[in-house]
Amino acid sequence: MAAAAVLLPATTPADYHRIVSPTLKVPTEPTISIPVGLLACQRDPLLRTLETTIVSASVVQPPPPNAAKKGKKAVVAPDLPNEPILHVLLHDTVIFPEGGGQPTDTGLIIITANGAPVPWVVVQCKRHGGHAVHYVKIPKESTADEALLSLQNGVKVTVSLGQNDYDRRYDHMSMHTSQHLLSALLESNLNLPTLSWSLTSYPSPCYVEIPRGMSVEEITTVQTEANQLVFEGRRVHVEVAELDDVQEKSKVQPVTDAGRAVGKALPTDYTGGVKRVVVIDGVDRNPCCGTHLPSLYNLQLFIIPHTEALSRSSTTSARLYFLCGPRLITYLTSTHNLLTSTSTILSCGVPLVPDRVAQVVEERKRVDKRATDVEQELARMIAKKIYTKVAEAQGGLYKQHFHRTDDTNNVLGFLTAIAFSVNELLAEKAKDHSYLIILSSSSSNQNQTSTSTVMIVSSDEAKVKAAADILKAKLSVKGGGKGLKWSGKFIGVWKESRESAAIDDILKAF
Ligand SMILES: [Zn+2]
Repeated sequence: MAAAAVLLPATTPADYHRIVSPTLKVPTEPTISIPVGLLACQRDPLLRTLETTIVSASVVQPPPPNAAKKGKKAVVAPDLPNEPILHVLLHDTVIFPEGGGQPTDTGLIIITANGAPVPWVVVQCKRHGGHAVHYVKIPKESTADEALLSLQNGVKVTVSLGQNDYDRRYDHMSMHTSQHLLSALLESNLNLPTLSWSLTSYPSPCYVEIPRGMSVEEITTVQTEANQLVFEGRRVHVEVAELDDVQEKSKVQPVTDAGRAVGKALPTDYTGGVKRVVVIDGVDRNPCCGTHLPSLYNLQLFIIPHTEALSRSSTTSARLYFLCGPRLITYLTSTHNLLTSTSTILSCGVPLVPDRVAQVVEERKRVDKRATDVEQELARMIAKKIYTKVAEAQGGLYKQHFHRTDDTNNVLGFLTAIAFSVNELLAEKAKDHSYLIILSSSSSNQNQTSTSTVMIVSSDEAKVKAAADILKAKLSVKGGGKGLKWSGKFIGVWKESRESAAIDDILKAF
C-alpha cells in the first residue's frame, strides 16, 4: 500500500539570524517599533503569521499614481486605492517593506472586533526612515475615524501573509537569493561586477546588468557551479550589528545616470541603525536588507544562455537573464505549451518545429512573390482592355468607372499597377486620346469603419484635380496625388446604388 505524503511546514533554522554585536538587542517593548533590519520577516523569512501590537496609525491621502513608473519591467507595487488609506506602524511584522531591489509584500492585519477576527488588507509596506509602514485599506463599511478607533496604540493584532501573499514573497526571495549567488559567482569567477539587477514581474526572467556580454561557455560554467552549490544545499544566514554611523555614512554611495544607487552601501535615507549582511556559506557576504531563503536547497538556477547587449551610447554593458524555483517551473511550463501548440499547428514533432517554421516562412515568401507577379500581369491585362476602349472612343473623352471587390491588404498597390499600366500604354497617344478613369475597390464584408480605395487616372492633369475635388466634396474621400494620378480613401459601406452611382454622376459632369 502506498504511503500518503505528509507535507511538513518549512521552518527557518534557529541559527539563521545571528546578532554579531554583544550590545544589539531586538526591542521587546510592545510600544516600540522594531527597526527595519531586525523585523520578523528578516529574522525568519518563512514565518507567515505573528501576534503583535499597534504602535501608531494615521490617515493619509495617497499621492496620484506616478504614470512614468508604469511602463517599467520591474515589479511595481500593487496600486494604492484612490482614497484615504491608513499608515500603520506595528511593533513587529512578517510583511517585508520594499528595499534592496525586492518589492513590497502584501498581507493582512487581523483585528478582533466583537470577538471575531476581521482581516484588513495591507496593499503595500514601505520603509519610512528606519521603520516599516503598512499601507492599509480602510474597510468599506468604516469611516476613517472609525478605522482609527479600531487601531489605537497598544491594540493586539495578528499580522499575516495569506497564501497568495506568501507565494508572491516566496518567489521574490527565491529570485533575490539567486541573484546574490549569481552575482557572487560572476564576480569571483569572471571578475564581472553586478552594475544593477531587476526583480521583474512574475513570471518573466529577472536580470543582472554586467559590464560586458558573456559567451555561452562562460554562462554554462557559472550555471554548473551555481547548481553544484544548490545540490549541496549550501546554507544561507544573516549577520546583524549596530550601524557604525560615522564609518558607514561616510561611504559615498555611487549612483547611476538614472539616479539609481549601485554597489554595497546603505540607502542614504536609512535610519534604522542596523547593519545587515547576507551570507551564503563560503560563497558570498553581501550587505542587504532583503528576505533570503535559509539555504540554496531547491533553488535550481537557470540562466538564459545568451546575454542581451544594452544600447546605451557610451557603454558596452549587457543583461544576463535568470530564473529559479517556482518561476522556473512556470516559465518551463509556458515555454513547453508554446512549443507543443506550435508543433500541433504545424503537424510535426517538437524537434522539427524550427525547420518547419523556416520552410513555412520560405514558402510564404515564394507565394507573396507569385501573387505580386500575377497581380502585375492582371493589371497589365485590365489596362490593355481600357486602352482598347479608349482607342475606340476615337478622340473623344473616354470616361469610365471600374469597381472591384478585393479582400487583400494590397488594394492600393493593385490599383496603382493598373493606373501605371494605363498611363504607360496611352502615353504616346495622349495627344489624340483623352480619358478620365476612376477605379475603386472595396472588401466583401463591410461595416461603418471599412475603408474603400479610390483612384483617378487621366490624360489631363486638370481633369484629375477637378474630379478629385468633386470626390472630396461629394463622398468625403480623403487623399492626394500629383500629375496624372490621384488616390484616396472612403470610410464606410460602399454601395453600388449610392457611391458607384455618385461616381457615374461625377463622370457625367465632364
Ligand atoms: Zn540583496
